[in-house]
Amino acid sequence: MLRVHDDDRMRILTAVATRGARYQIARVVVITLSLAILVIIPTLGLVRLDLWDGRHVLFGDRVPFLIGLRGVVIGIAALWGVTFATNVVVGRFFCGWGCPVGYVSRLGEDVTRTRRRGFRGRAKWLAQHAAGAGFVGTFVAAIMLWWVDPHVLIEGTLQAKAIVVGIWLLACIGGFFHAFVWRFLFCKTACPIGLYYRFVTSSTPIGITFNETPSPCIECGACEKICPVDLDPKKLGRPADELGTANVPAMRGDVVEAGEDLYGDAECIRCGDCIEACHMIFKGRPGETPPLRFGRPANVPTKTASS
Ligand code: SF4
Ligand code: SF4
Repeated sequence: MLRVHDDDRMRILTAVATRGARYQIARVVVITLSLAILVIIPTLGLVRLDLWDGRHVLFGDRVPFLIGLRGVVIGIAALWGVTFATNVVVGRFFCGWGCPVGYVSRLGEDVTRTRRRGFRGRAKWLAQHAAGAGFVGTFVAAIMLWWVDPHVLIEGTLQAKAIVVGIWLLACIGGFFHAFVWRFLFCKTACPIGLYYRFVTSSTPIGITFNETPSPCIECGACEKICPVDLDPKKLGRPADELGTANVPAMRGDVVEAGEDLYGDAECIRCGDCIEACHMIFKGRPGETPPLRFGRPANVPTKTASS
């Protein structure tokens, strides 16, 4: 199902934001850290393979092509190692919190949700557009810094400058389409990193847990409607057999024994939106505890496949 401009998700996100999102600051901190790592490594000259003028660097020193290439490969492998280690403990947390591409989806949703009524509404809408454009532009520039020395913009020929700026602009336009057309549909169906993690992730020690003790679920459906990848969070981690095969998401990785397949563990990006929705609902029910939370899934065997 296409959820790109899902009105239910938009409405619940707006309600959550209005009543104070729990994870807003944490989300900004994690994504800022993620983006900063991408920018800092090539900016400090720790590693770069310069496709413009052969000014390859490794730990601040000019190096030959092959050593620069090795540095870039090791750098990418190290970043992958961090996300893989995270995946072992908390599943696709990186997809839901640390991935700049996923965050662009959220920035696009913020713009879509903003009402352009009055001066303040329009100013907010423009500011969100600017924030989104700034984020996308910085992200694309960060990736390019790994592959081209920024001095090209000063010392390069007109043609070299045009190529670099042209690639940056094209990628930014791609970011625009991602923010306003594909959004989480890309994360769900097309992202190669996400698809990889989909196949290597099984139940993890920490995930989304649904526990009706001490307070029962009121069956409001908000968690299911807000989920950006079309899961029912209340069923997460339950044996798929118990739920019926119709509930098993397509393209499930073959990482657990037949009969032990667990609903949604590999598809859930641990974004926490369902928890936000559940807690928002329970704000109006003092004394009761929301049944959805981050934690150790109850009654689910811990089992994480290796790559
Ligand atoms: S954390 Fe909740 S909302 Fe986010 S993907 Fe998982 S089930 Fe869906
Ligand atoms: S949001 Fe909470 S109360 Fe509502 S259906 Fe989901 S788990 Fe139940």
